[in-house]
Amino acid sequence: MLYAGIAWSADGYDVEVIDTDGNRATAPTHWGAERVPELAAWLGAPGPSTEPPRAVVVESTNGLVDGLLTAAGLTVFRADPWVLPERPDFGSVPARALAERARTDLASLSPLTAEGGGQTGRDDDYHGGIGRSAAHEAELARAGRWFRHGPRDRHEIALTFDDGPDPVFTGQVLDILARYGVHATFFCVGLHVRALPDEVRRIVDAGHSLGNHTWSHPFLPDLSPRQFRLQLERTDEAFDRAVGRVPAVFRPPYGARTPEALSELLRGGPALALWDVDSWDWARPGPEKIARTVLDHAGPGSLILMHDGGGDRRQSVAALPSVIEGLLERNLRFVAADALAGRSADALGEPAG
Ligand SMILES: [Zn+2]
Repeated sequence: MLYAGIAWSADGYDVEVIDTDGNRATAPTHWGAERVPELAAWLGAPGPSTEPPRAVVVESTNGLVDGLLTAAGLTVFRADPWVLPERPDFGSVPARALAERARTDLASLSPLTAEGGGQTGRDDDYHGGIGRSAAHEAELARAGRWFRHGPRDRHEIALTFDDGPDPVFTGQVLDILARYGVHATFFCVGLHVRALPDEVRRIVDAGHSLGNHTWSHPFLPDLSPRQFRLQLERTDEAFDRAVGRVPAVFRPPYGARTPEALSELLRGGPALALWDVDSWDWARPGPEKIARTVLDHAGPGSLILMHDGGGDRRQSVAALPSVIEGLLERNLRFVAADALAGRSADALGEPAG
């Protein structure tokens, strides 16, 4: 029986696969983010014995690969900080430690499913963090730097795509947007910006906007303020290298917030952009359902959440033409997410979707 661990770092992913006795089943491997689809295929048969690992383990600070791995049929677990050695300020614990945890104490890990999402079982920390963040959020909103939708009295909406750039799906989304002549905002993760700078250039050259979506898609409650700051800064550096500019907006993974992270934002940096219409495309309910969910909830000012990376996004791509056509039929104008910032009198209102 095999156990695999996937660590993230400044330049990609490290993978270790061990057997029941704790011996390496393969040599350690390194993967650039542009090769994640290949990584998922390789993990299906990593060793001389062709069985897939009993468990593939990622940290709670690595939310970029679990969707693709579960979609590929692998059995994926999340390891939370209290069962792991201490993490460096930038990077996860070694892949070996993750695989070892699965081998010696699988019950201490949380199984992830394609339908459940990366933060399965962390509802208390998620909602607790948001609950404690109200005062900080109000302060950011007063400064025009926190919003979940734009003005309701203008016929503007923002279409947003999270978790890219992706070597397969970002280009497909860009082709469809170009066909309709509409613009969107791409909330990219730094690890993938670094690995796929040409995709980011293509986004910018086509007139779309960019957002910072952290480096490794971590669950914010598990980060120290310094770790959060590094996630933002390193991602901005990758954007700057790729396209010579940094985003004006930031979106936290899973929409998680904590007072510690928001304190960092209050010191400066991008505006925090949430959303009021969730397409639920990541759960892969079918293209028709995705389009219907968006069109049932969207209206003037809507900030619409979809995904071009972080998993199998074929359904998101298939749903997109219907989404765009439905919004155009209502005479809604597509604007960049940051164009909706700071203009909403009721920015702290509850989501409509
Ligand atoms: Zn995300």
